[in-house]
Amino acid sequence: DMFESLSDRLSGILDSLTRRGALSDADVTAALREVRRALIEADVSLDVVRSFTDKVKNRAVGHEVVKSVTPGQMVVKIVHDQLVEMLGAEGEPIDLNAPAPVAIMMVGLQGSGKTTTSGKIALRLTKRDKRKVLMASLDTRRPAAQEQLKVLGEQTGIDTLPIIAGQSPTQIAKRAESAARLGGYDVVILDTAGRTHIDEPLMVEMAEIKAIANPHEILLVADSLTGQDAVNLAKSFDERVGITGLVLTRMDGDGRGGAALSMRAVTGKPVKLIGTGEKADALEEFHPARIADRILGMGDIVSLVEKASEAIDAEQAAKMAKKFKKGEFDLDDLSEQLQQMEKLGGMSGMLGMLPGIGKMKKQLEAANLDDSVIKRQRAIISSMTKKERRAPKLLNASRKKRIAAGSGTEVQDVNKLLKMHRQMADMMKAMGKKKGGMMGALGGM
Ligand code: GDP
Repeated sequence: DMFESLSDRLSGILDSLTRRGALSDADVTAALREVRRALIEADVSLDVVRSFTDKVKNRAVGHEVVKSVTPGQMVVKIVHDQLVEMLGAEGEPIDLNAPAPVAIMMVGLQGSGKTTTSGKIALRLTKRDKRKVLMASLDTRRPAAQEQLKVLGEQTGIDTLPIIAGQSPTQIAKRAESAARLGGYDVVILDTAGRTHIDEPLMVEMAEIKAIANPHEILLVADSLTGQDAVNLAKSFDERVGITGLVLTRMDGDGRGGAALSMRAVTGKPVKLIGTGEKADALEEFHPARIADRILGMGDIVSLVEKASEAIDAEQAAKMAKKFKKGEFDLDDLSEQLQQMEKLGGMSGMLGMLPGIGKMKKQLEAANLDDSVIKRQRAIISSMTKKERRAPKLLNASRKKRIAAGSGTEVQDVNKLLKMHRQMADMMKAMGKKKGGMMGALGGM
């Protein structure tokens, strides 16, 4: 990943705070500087960034920090939730609720993926929704455009309007409507011409086509890599032509999807679909939460926070933190921690969700803490007496033998566990002294 993730940055700023409780104005202001940078890097336009961060600020100041996560993680979660809210509803379908033939007009700049997307939508409506679809290219500017759609139709088995040379876009639109009506088509998709940039003739042409074709849907197709232009683009098309939805293409690329937020914010129109490749079936529903993750570039921190607040008893985590600070960490504590890890989807699941934890990860891997190992280790601990769990020093050779037999393991497994416990106890002690940070990051581990 070429971007430093937002959660890593916020960890740096906020996770050294020892104070818990509500987020203060100062915490949030510091965090929002990084949020702003992350959004700009994700290509969200500046106006939108500003209104977004204002909203987050209102929401975050005074917000309680769930005890088992860090303030940084909490802010990321709030930012994420606000993003999801602004990105809008989950995959709104194309609306076909009108008398047949329902016209869908595709608009956008040249190269945005209009023709490809027309084909994808046609295929989806045919295959999945069992509609009879006709496609027509109204692009009389680019010599090969009508031919391109015809070939696409042949490849996907979708009918296209026969090409008649010399017709204007509005003439083609009229012909498409009557052909669709006479041919008993449910849907007619009108693929219009683009330009390399927005200009007056393009807008005039789109308005004329709209007046003739009376489309039920007007979908603006835009490249998800569109940066600061996204707002202008969406605004112009929406004000001059009036769009009903957005389709973002090239979401398979490594753009961060900021255009989705910008365009949604200025038009208020839903992102209906996303293009995820060149193939005819590379079309997907829009999931705001996924785009939000992508914009933030943040591993799966949100589900970590959610899981942590569900799975971990905050009081217990606090009690544990106190013990660590004092350097008390017995085998009962270890057993409890292992149980928490299991709840969080095992060590591997948990580490997968945590960004910026490279150092710790190595230590834990060295301790060989994979998921089946966790179960075995808990079995070993439960074969010990209460006294032994409190004071592992008591464990001499004969006790170890008894415990190994009782837990169906070998003495060397018992030794490994004890060694891990010692290492963790040392680590906990060191972390306990180090102002909270890492411990919070591990959800009270
Ligand atoms: P138009 O000028 O707007 O009609 O754009 P086209 O439909 O001709 O698409 C331009 C290029 O973008 C073509 O090479 C397409 O294969 C490609 N393309 C369109 N949508 C996507 C997408 O979602 N992902 C990828 N990777 N390529 C796409």
